[in-house]
Amino acid sequence: NREWLLAERPDGEPDQDCFELHETDVPSPAPGELLVRTRFLSVDPYMRGRMRDAESYAEPWDVGDALKGGIVGEVVESESDAYGAGDLVTGEGRWADYATLDADDVAPVDPTVADPAAYLGVLGMPGRTAYFGLLEVGEPKPGDTVVVSGAAGAVGSVVGQIAKRNGCRVVGFAGSDEKTDWLTDDLGFDAAINYKTTDDYRAALDEAAPDGVDVYFDNVGGPITDAVFTKLNLDARVAVCGQIAHYNDEGVPTGPRKLPQIIPVRARIQGLLIADFATRFGEASERLGRWVASGELKHRETVVEGLENAPDAFLGLFAGDNIGKQVVRVSAE
Ligand code: NDP
Repeated sequence: NREWLLAERPDGEPDQDCFELHETDVPSPAPGELLVRTRFLSVDPYMRGRMRDAESYAEPWDVGDALKGGIVGEVVESESDAYGAGDLVTGEGRWADYATLDADDVAPVDPTVADPAAYLGVLGMPGRTAYFGLLEVGEPKPGDTVVVSGAAGAVGSVVGQIAKRNGCRVVGFAGSDEKTDWLTDDLGFDAAINYKTTDDYRAALDEAAPDGVDVYFDNVGGPITDAVFTKLNLDARVAVCGQIAHYNDEGVPTGPRKLPQIIPVRARIQGLLIADFATRFGEASERLGRWVASGELKHRETVVEGLENAPDAFLGLFAGDNIGKQVVRVSAE
């Protein structure tokens, strides 16, 4: 059984030296637990925060700790009546070939609804973040213009599609033409801006959001956010979901530099944490599952092959290597 440990804390941008692959015995499930053979594991931007020695909403990892996150796997041994060998489940497990999970903490995976990897993306934590973050914090109304940064990622791609369902004009920022084409041609975004080939984001927004911005769903921060702030309409809502442009900052991050702009329009800026909606996850899972099964909600997973390549998959999030949800395939069917 191979598992990844935190070898050292990153200084700025993380690299391969932060990770160490370690051999251990296959763990044995205690009463109430399942032994799961990992099929897919999730790499997520918030894990950068766990690598830092600082208090945050996700507990920091110590050097030498096993890395953990969302996994999908097949039960190979069960010490619970709730699941049996062969069942597919999703929960929080180690970046490892095998993991033990408490049966109370896992959810079933139905491969007839979507590929099991989707349970780490649109049907998992990122999809729920998009759902509650947009609907509860962004409060979109029909006719609103919704701008999403990090739009071609796991959260952003779902935010934009839910905003479209709610009758909004949707504009996304993403980092390649392949991504912006996917947003407009496949996901129904009204416009998408490649921020890596566009110099003047404000001018691009003049064209893409001619009526201004009513809801800004921010995954990124930095200069994109600065530009969007200059276009906010009266009573605009800003849902601050992530600030990935700042996760590798070592000093005090810059911005938001355009805060004076929110005064005349009385915009509301609100942070969101998906854990706050835990009592309502069932509602989101039911609706997202229905939309995915019917094909109304599209999703994509970028798959890196092999547990040994999990650090590459994680580091790739900061380079924008992923379209949709980034996962690692640890074992085949
Ligand atoms: P993504 O799938 O969106 O992957 C990250 C993406 O961020 C990359 O693909 C890249 O795309 C983009 N990116 C990376 N660096 C920069 C940069 N400097 N400037 C602009 N874009 C950048 O990740 P998730 O969908 O899982 O997460 C999106 C955000 O939501 C993250 O900030 C994450 O921390 C946050 N989040 C917050 C939660 C909460 O409860 N608050 C829960 C889940 C996620 P590109 O090619 O476009 O640059």
